[in-house]
Amino acid sequence: MRSESGVLELTILGRGDNRRLRVLAPDASGLGDFEGVPGSVAEGMVLEGPLSAVNARALRANIPSLQPQPLGLATSAGLGDRLGLATPGHVRAFRRYGAGILPVFAQQSIREMDRLDRTPQQVLDDATFGCLQGGWDGPVGADADHLKSTEEIDRCLAAGFTSFTLDPGEHVRAVPAVVSTDLLAGLQWAALEDDADSMSRRYAGLVVEAEGTVIRVAEDDLRRAAAKYADAVVYTVSMYRHLMACARYPVDVEVSVDETDEPTTLAEHVYLATEMKRLGMTWVSFAPRYVGGFEKGIEYIGDTTVFFDSLVAHANIARAMGPYKISLHSGSDKFSIYDQAVAATGRLVHLKTSGTSYLQALGVAAIHDPALFRAIYDVSRDAYRGARASYQVSAQLDRTPAAENLTDEQLPALVTNSDSRQVLHVGYGAVLTQHDEGGARWMSDALRSLLSTHAEEYESVLESHLGRHLRPFAELSR
Ligand SMILES: [Zn+2]
Repeated sequence: MRSESGVLELTILGRGDNRRLRVLAPDASGLGDFEGVPGSVAEGMVLEGPLSAVNARALRANIPSLQPQPLGLATSAGLGDRLGLATPGHVRAFRRYGAGILPVFAQQSIREMDRLDRTPQQVLDDATFGCLQGGWDGPVGADADHLKSTEEIDRCLAAGFTSFTLDPGEHVRAVPAVVSTDLLAGLQWAALEDDADSMSRRYAGLVVEAEGTVIRVAEDDLRRAAAKYADAVVYTVSMYRHLMACARYPVDVEVSVDETDEPTTLAEHVYLATEMKRLGMTWVSFAPRYVGGFEKGIEYIGDTTVFFDSLVAHANIARAMGPYKISLHSGSDKFSIYDQAVAATGRLVHLKTSGTSYLQALGVAAIHDPALFRAIYDVSRDAYRGARASYQVSAQLDRTPAAENLTDEQLPALVTNSDSRQVLHVGYGAVLTQHDEGGARWMSDALRSLLSTHAEEYESVLESHLGRHLRPFAELSR
């Protein structure tokens, strides 16, 4: 790619972990921002350097489209990447199947980053280099996902993220069917800048109406919604105000309560949106907890008609009260509901996937390095019992065969079978941090090395698999 000035020619050499940045300039003055080994060629000066933070920053300075930006209400999709090697394949998927969808290539939850000792800067920089390699010159977002504290916000602001997904899930309460006056009185009214009577009065005459959805919040529903979500409102608003006070550049905000136990009812959605607006927030997308099984890496579990009706209503509330996008978290591999999601939201939607690109990597390993794949599978099965608690997953270990009972030819099916797929999905942390006596993360290193050798194949399977996700959301999809 050419720099904005037209002076520099920027290229990624090699593949996977063997990549280097090459900068070609007419003279040495153009190379000042970059680090590496300079030399001279017939066309001028050339520099070859590492995929370092310094070089990523210099790239974004010289090619402004690589600088993440807020994507606002545009139809968008975030494709997370646990290994930092997937962006070139993601670019291919967007280019071929994602017309009219704005991409988020840098997207990872702080939980995953910390688990893998990846910094927000590394996540952002890996996406920057991947965009250059894939030749992506359109706008890009960068999503700091599932943020739960102001300290996490600060880390992601320092790295340059432009979308902040605020997750108050730990402050969502389990509530009884009937909320007592005592329980209601105990809410954080001062922080809510409100009191119980004022709240009741505000909602008594409220009607939210859009596209055939009409929501009135009955007093009992209001009390339940407040008891369940008031602490979450307080926490979200405090994070939001911190973000707005500290951000030195424009940012998008998403609010997500998807990783909580009970589905978000329509009345609760109205309550959350009403209160967050009243307290001065604006946001571009919202992820409720959906009805049915919205599990990681596999098809939607449940009645898709029920899901569709509920999504239509949530999307209509989002249109009436924002507008803001409906965000589909854990959105991968739910091919049965994408057309419905487009119909329900009118493309006012954001799709998020993350682990599915890691699973595609394991698919490459299953074909080309059965021994490594067996080791990964064994570690994932061992880890599953413990890891299960922190995810919405239903895989049963006793429905997954032991690797020693399978031939090499049977291994790739483990990546597609629902139970073993989820076990592999959830096992990433144990796998990628598995280390030898010297502390080297041998499993991660071996997988990365394999993907570097088979980079074209990894890109190709990402293009087709993520392409299946994007295509229903694209403009003029057929
Ligand atoms: Zn989520």
